[in-house]
Formats: sequence, C-alpha cells, structure tokens
Amino acid sequence: MIDLRSDTITKPTPAMREAMAKAEVGDDVFGDDPTVNALEAYVAELLGKEEAVYMPSGTMTNQVALRVHTEPGDEVILESEAHIYYYEGGAPAALSGVMCRLIKGNEGIFSATDVERVLRPDNYHFPKTKLVCLENTHNRGGGRIFPLSEIEAIARICQERNLKLHLDGARLWNACAATSISEADYAKPFDTVSICFSKGLGAPVGSALVGSQELMKRARRFCKMFGGGMRQAGIIAAGALYALKHHRERLLEDHLNAKILAKGLQQIDGIAIDPEDVQTNIVIFQTKAIPAQTLAQKLQEKGVALLAIGSHSLRAVTNLMVTQEQIQAVPELVEAAMRS
Ligand SMILES: *Cc1c(COP(=O)(O)O)cnc(C)c1O
Repeated sequence: MIDLRSDTITKPTPAMREAMAKAEVGDDVFGDDPTVNALEAYVAELLGKEEAVYMPSGTMTNQVALRVHTEPGDEVILESEAHIYYYEGGAPAALSGVMCRLIKGNEGIFSATDVERVLRPDNYHFPKTKLVCLENTHNRGGGRIFPLSEIEAIARICQERNLKLHLDGARLWNACAATSISEADYAKPFDTVSICFSKGLGAPVGSALVGSQELMKRARRFCKMFGGGMRQAGIIAAGALYALKHHRERLLEDHLNAKILAKGLQQIDGIAIDPEDVQTNIVIFQTKAIPAQTLAQKLQEKGVALLAIGSHSLRAVTNLMVTQEQIQAVPELVEAAMRS
C-alpha cells in the first residue's frame, strides 16, 4: 500500500526504536524523567524560548495554549479553517469557554490588515480579544507557508493592542526545511508555539508547547488538569529526540516527492491541480467529474490510500514511509482509477 493519507502514519525506524529501547526513564510528573527533560531542553533551545513542555498530542498543546492565554468569555482570532477550530472537537468552547472569531484566509494565510479589520474598541459590549493564532504550515491550506514578514506585521499589531500570539506549528519543520529560515526565527514573534514530533518527523507520539518560564508554569498546570501528565514518558520522548536530530533535513525529500506527484497529476484529464500551489508535503487536488470519495475507493483497490477532504477534493501527504519510485507510480494508478 502506498499510504498518502497523512504524515501521521509514519512508523519509528529501527534506529529510533533502538534509542527508545535504551531510554533512561523516571516519573515525569515528579520532573524525574531524564529523557523528557533532555527533550524539553533541546526543543526550548531550538525554538529560542525559555522552556518547553512535552505533551501527548498537538491538540493538547494547542488547547493548553488557548487556556493559558484566556479566561472564559474571551475572544480568540483564528483563520476559518485553522486546525484549532476545525479539527479539535470543539475544544476551544469546551475547555476554555472562549469565542472564536474567524478570518477567511487565502489557503490559510491572512494579513495584518485582516487582523486590524476584526479588532474592536475596548468597550463592555464586546468580548475581550486576548489571542491571535496562526498555523504554519497550514494543513487545510495545502501545506502553505506563512510568510515571516506577514507574521512580523501581525505581531506588531498584537503588541500595540496587547494581544498574545500563538503558533500552531505542527508542521513548522516543513516551513523551515522549505525556506531555510530557522525554527527560532519563525518562533520569535510568538508568545507560545506548539510543535509536533509524530507527523513528518516520524516519532510515534507527542508534541511540545514552548514559551516563557512564566507561561510554561501555567501550561504545566493545565496540561495536568487536562489529563496530560505522563509518567515514564522517556520511552516516547526518546523517539521524539531522535526524530528531531535525524529527520528534519530529510523533509526536503517529501517536498520533492510532493512536487513530482503534483506535476504527474496535472497531466491527467479530469484532475485539477496547480503544482505551483504545492510548497511543502501536502498535495490537494480536485476531481472535476467524479466524487472524491469514489476516486479514493477505486484507488484503495489499486494500492494507493489518500483522503477525500471535500466533495470533489482529495489530499495526498508525502512522508517518510513512501519512496520516490512509489510516488512516480501514483499518477498512472490515478489515471487508471479515473478510467475504470
Ligand atoms: C496534526 C495537527 C495538529 C495536532 O494533531 P494531534 O493529532 O492532536 O497531534 C495540530 N495542528 C495541525 C495544523 C495539525 O496538522
């Protein structure tokens, strides 16, 4: 099976498993797990922040960040298809009691002017706006990279208006690999950043939230409250640490494979895609005549798994488990599936 459903399907490599098997562990809730501590120190340094907190999932790091920056009744500004809003089970309302104000972006990207337009004066008729969230790269935006200059312009407005700025950086590694901008440079304008080890990097479990010592003290409290206190988590943290050290540069292979796939798909009658839109490892394309679900089913029978993400749109995500030879075979299989 050529599995392009997501970069979350990646499995630990033999070398990663060896690092996990040998990991020193302790009770992390007591702060005693040396491998978790090493991972948190490494991540904080890499992102240029004071402290990092290792948690079980990206949903948890994002939702802890929302809770850290807000009180019930506050307003959070998000892009209309942001993962935090779209794919996290309604958690902003359930766990933080916040209102979400949405900005319609262009493939997930919006401007400082868009933020200014939705801000309201300080008046007791309005909810208190506390937080702006960006996503880089943007999942439903097809892996689109948020331009650093626009992030900095948004950060200036947040500073003027006393708003906090959070980054959902589950795929920040992909943005860094594609642009050669460092993690620390991307993270600098933000108060908190959430990053993920189990997507393209290929670790089995986990995400981290980074920020100032003061904010991370509050984050640890909500992480425990939301059920994220783990014990001998060094076993999974070792996989994350291994992935950080060894799998970031190879993301460029995934990006090249995504381009090859997009160019191949472009040649097929009945498929709409512009390879120029593919900036990282996500390939979104449209089927003009047949439902996306039908094509996905036919492809499954031919040994290719990908996801229908709209009535006529499908998503393929290149990843560590798929070789360039396999990618080169996909357009022909899509064409055959379209004909059958
Ligand atoms: C995958 C993802 C997350 C976190 O997902 P979990 O499955 O909870 O780890 C957060 N944000 C984005 C943009 C993602 O793609």
